[in-house]
Amino acid sequence: MKKLFVLAFLSFLFLTACDEDDHSKDPGPENGAKYEIPVVIHIVHRAGETIGEGSNLSTERIVKQIENLNNDFRRKKGTRGYNEHPDGADAQIEFKLAEIDPLGNRSTGIRRINGDIIEPRNGAGPFDWLPDYGFWDPNKYVNIWVMPQGKTFFGVANPPEGDLPGLDKMVIEVKTGDGILINSLYFGESDDDPNVLGRTLTHEMGHFLGLLHLWGGDPITIWNCEDLDKINDFCDDTPSVTEPTGNCVLQEIIFACDGTTPALRNNYMDYTDDACMNMFTKDQVKRMHWVLENSPRRKSLTSAATIKR
Ligand SMILES: [Zn+2]
Repeated sequence: MKKLFVLAFLSFLFLTACDEDDHSKDPGPENGAKYEIPVVIHIVHRAGETIGEGSNLSTERIVKQIENLNNDFRRKKGTRGYNEHPDGADAQIEFKLAEIDPLGNRSTGIRRINGDIIEPRNGAGPFDWLPDYGFWDPNKYVNIWVMPQGKTFFGVANPPEGDLPGLDKMVIEVKTGDGILINSLYFGESDDDPNVLGRTLTHEMGHFLGLLHLWGGDPITIWNCEDLDKINDFCDDTPSVTEPTGNCVLQEIIFACDGTTPALRNNYMDYTDDACMNMFTKDQVKRMHWVLENSPRRKSLTSAATIKR
């Protein structure tokens, strides 16, 4: 009896806490509505390359990348971004190449910068020196720099700020810039590599909007299933794993920490082949919506352009 009372009391507390906790609710747009976010692509290419040559990616490739990004975020039927998983969700977020630049002039949303003009400063984080190549008001545009890098580097995103649990686990350095850096090798669909389908940007955009890896941590550290606080990605519908579950082309099922639930190897926040990724979960979408409603330099991205039909 006493036990029952305690249980009832505890569940009352839990319900009350949930009711008052903004983080448990999805503050996003109603069904059928969407956020629309302007992006600017800074193509920083090797000296002398013409458009479409080497790291000076063609306009078609850039446009297709944004299309793929939207297919992924909208879980669009008939595209690679579609899934039928019961926990899969349409993020109701769409990205659009900016049509107006910060001075009010018409723009394609694509800038091309000869990489020899400015040398990156040594010793500083990427978001300290990337603005040297151009940086549009981060309150109004997502700045995406696309630069040639070594093969092992894919991309990096500056995480958002706010009191959403888990954001404190994302590295924030002193910096002047905000945005995303993608290796030009992995931006868009590659003519040379059939495994490159533009999902590096989907993954990094997830970080930019507050998502952690499925194993909760950085790319290198591998935890144990007992380290629940360390492997927490603050999404209840992504089964806990201790490390990247990787190459899903192998088809074998990898189980999450509970030993019975398959790990979400098709999730954009795992490390896996581009061809295998097709899913954000409902809780991941809820986190991104929280960031878009509350975080500085994220909330303002949508306020002018949000479309709520
Ligand atoms: Zn990552």
